[in-house]
Amino acid sequence: MADPQSLTAFIAGLPKAELHVHHVGSASPRTVAALAARHPDSRVPSDPEAIAEYFTFTDFAHFIDVYLSVVDLIRTPEDIRLLTFEIARDMARQNIRYAELTVTPFSSTSRGIPEQGFMEAIEDARRSAERELGVVLRWCFDIPGEAGLEAAEETTRLALDLRPEGLVSFGLGGPEIGVPRPQFKPYFDRAVAAGLRSVPHAGETTGPETIWDALRELGAERVGHGTSAVQDPALLAHLAEHRIPLEVCPTSNIATRAVTDLDAHPVKAMVAAGVLVTINSDDPPMFGTDLNQEYAIAARLLDLDERGLASLAKNAVEASFLDQAGKRAISEEIDAYTGKWLAR
Ligand SMILES: [Zn+2]
Repeated sequence: MADPQSLTAFIAGLPKAELHVHHVGSASPRTVAALAARHPDSRVPSDPEAIAEYFTFTDFAHFIDVYLSVVDLIRTPEDIRLLTFEIARDMARQNIRYAELTVTPFSSTSRGIPEQGFMEAIEDARRSAERELGVVLRWCFDIPGEAGLEAAEETTRLALDLRPEGLVSFGLGGPEIGVPRPQFKPYFDRAVAAGLRSVPHAGETTGPETIWDALRELGAERVGHGTSAVQDPALLAHLAEHRIPLEVCPTSNIATRAVTDLDAHPVKAMVAAGVLVTINSDDPPMFGTDLNQEYAIAARLLDLDERGLASLAKNAVEASFLDQAGKRAISEEIDAYTGKWLAR
């Protein structure tokens, strides 16, 4: 077992890719404070220290309530641009080179933000982030499942008709209980036919049958969370055989009570079954974490040293929707960094 302090330093400098992280859910206290100051009629505090307190959740319902109060702070394309660019700044600080950010355009357009303005704002932030921070962003547009088929139709229309340059995939988020996956099949069929990749959330708060639905009905190429896959050995074998990656978010699973405690997290069983596991942060500031901290947790749960962490980082690159040249560039950077670290 490597020295945890030295591993923390190694992780901080390790070039990384992130595949499961939400747009509004990544708003840092600093960004939320700036937005609250712009919109003083909101009940959200405009002081970063008070916001850290405001982000302490008593349960999942409280988390949703706070999350929606932050959604309500995002009212103009300029708010969207600020939010998006500041997320990239937090990523650059952690040496995240590439991220597929899950964006829920329906939450904004249904609140009256003009759809063209929304797309221009995220694309403007994406280009600035790449140019000024060296962070490559791509979008996953997701259906907020709790908003039903109207939201599904609207998300599909926005994705396919406006199709911003950075859009690579199509997702499904929100609660799973009472929101069966198969009803979204026609929307995923259209998105996939148009060349978008399928990445629904499944098996976060419900059993393995939801994951099978995501694979069979929605054509999932990666699965968001997939936590309950470990309850079904045939499913684990299927995921391993077909190299269908899971987007594991350890701290999120604890914060939402999807998993009772970290030491009981099924990530170890997933890896033991040969599943391609990626580590992600989901809604990092809201869950009091960041990607570096999730890697440190994974190192502890999976008993990884520097080489193990480097291969975990390469899993995310492999599971990403980057082209081959893009994947090779980050993987080589990971190898070079690791080699240099170990030769110190
Ligand atoms: Zn998520």
